Amino acid sequence: MAWDIGLPRRRVSKPQNQLFQQSRFRLAAWYAGVMGVILALLGLGMYRAIAHAHEVTIDREIKSVADALKNALKVTLSDEQQLEQLSPQLLPDLCLADNRCLEPRQQTPSSPYLQSYYIRIISPTGELFATAGTRPQGIPVTVPAATWQTVRDDSNQHYHQVALKLYPTVSPEIGPTATEPESWAYLVVGRSFQDFDEYLASVRWRILLGLLLALALVAPASWWLATLAMHPIYLSYSRIQQFTADAAHELRTPLAAIQATVESVLRLPHLSEADAQDTLSVIHRQNLRLSTLVSNLLLLSKLDIQPYPVKQTHCNVVDLVHDIAEEMAAFALQKKIHLAVDVQTEPTVTVFGDEENLYRLLLNLVNNALTYTPEGGQVTLTLQKQHQQALILVTDTGVGIAPDEQAKIFDRFYRVDTARSRQTGNSGLGLAIATAIAHAHRGTITVSSRPGQGSTFIVSLPISS
Ligand code: ADP
Repeated sequence: MAWDIGLPRRRVSKPQNQLFQQSRFRLAAWYAGVMGVILALLGLGMYRAIAHAHEVTIDREIKSVADALKNALKVTLSDEQQLEQLSPQLLPDLCLADNRCLEPRQQTPSSPYLQSYYIRIISPTGELFATAGTRPQGIPVTVPAATWQTVRDDSNQHYHQVALKLYPTVSPEIGPTATEPESWAYLVVGRSFQDFDEYLASVRWRILLGLLLALALVAPASWWLATLAMHPIYLSYSRIQQFTADAAHELRTPLAAIQATVESVLRLPHLSEADAQDTLSVIHRQNLRLSTLVSNLLLLSKLDIQPYPVKQTHCNVVDLVHDIAEEMAAFALQKKIHLAVDVQTEPTVTVFGDEENLYRLLLNLVNNALTYTPEGGQVTLTLQKQHQQALILVTDTGVGIAPDEQAKIFDRFYRVDTARSRQTGNSGLGLAIATAIAHAHRGTITVSSRPGQGSTFIVSLPISS
């Protein structure tokens, strides 16, 4: 996306544009990186949870097989001598240490659990008495070091095994002895985790693929988010640049006028009283213009820094409207314009805010109305009340504003007719200040205008209860 943000008059220069592009790239990279790490951690957590759940299930299965076998053996066996007489139905696949089997060995054991488990009966000294089920190569026959063990065969395949002690059968005539009987063997039951490892490998691949897919989506999303995040910064940076350039330009005009006047006077061999008067009046006029401009700039920056008024009081808008009309009466008279006030509310309508600033807001609007209305015209200040809002309408029968200019006139330093505005000494800050003041009071300013017919500026301010 290009940085075409429709700036009013000026664009950010190329190196600065590069700086914004770099920042946008960095921001996008950070977004993508952080999202990548979060997704990777989530994937890892999911993988660990799946692996753990399966491991617990398989261990539980091994334990239940081992318990069932132990209970069955407990009834018939008291020592290794009896292994030979063990019913082939109980462990059909059982072979003794000297390779004598209870039944001829089959290629695949008949019982399903014998197909995936190895069963060993080991003496307390670590000698193998008998074995059944699968015969993994390389798993040592020793005294089990713990109840649960993870062991590996020759092909590095891993197994979980559980070891349970076998005790001699207690004869019902003798009854339970006071001392615990010695165990005569360990029953070791183990299971291969090959199928589980294969399953986990497929889960790993799926998570990795999912992660890559998610990153492929996250990358453009990050770029888009970075663009969104940088856009207001870019916009306000451009506005500041524009504002600085415009302010410098506005300040330069009266300064240049003073400079030119002084230089021309200095070139004169002697200065008559009339020349001195002229020079001083030019300097005085330009100086006034400079002071107005500087105080307007100061007010704007104050409103930017402190958008909400510090000194707030309950201001009666009816009084404000009458005061403005009174102050502007002389100007209206001078311009031969009829200035009228139409209060359509009760005598007191209060707004909570800074009276001085609210006065300035209305003064700017009425001053504009009188400035841009020709002789014989009419300017009316109307006050209405609507839905807990005080509406102040400044209507004139002046030059009007073209529809495409109506939104721009609220921008700082924007003037429809620059040459004409300069003549009047206006700098294009009046409406910007009025808007900032209205916003500071949680209000709005709108305009409706028809070129050649006049304009109406509507200020809406919330009424304080
Ligand atoms: P300025 O100080 O030049 O009057 P403003 O910000 O007050 O600046 O106004 C911006 C521009 O909006 C003016 O230059 C003028 O062209 C236009 N404007 C403002 N008020 C009116 C009005 N009542 N009638 C016609 N044009 C107006």
